[in-house]
Amino acid sequence: MIPFEQNALCMRCSQKELAMSERAYICEKCGSEMDRDMNATINIREEAKRIFGLA
Ligand SMILES: [Zn+2]
Repeated sequence: MIPFEQNALCMRCSQKELAMSERAYICEKCGSEMDRDMNATINIREEAKRIFGLA
């Protein structure tokens, strides 16, 4: 199981150093703001695609 905080990744620029507000990640590089749960879900899905070769 991967903690969400370590799984944070900007969807737009793949920046890993995301600032965390109460409910969202904020990318200081491109300014994207992402819902924490939604972003984690998308990252897991992308990771699964890579693992299973579907990307
Ligand atoms: Zn970004």
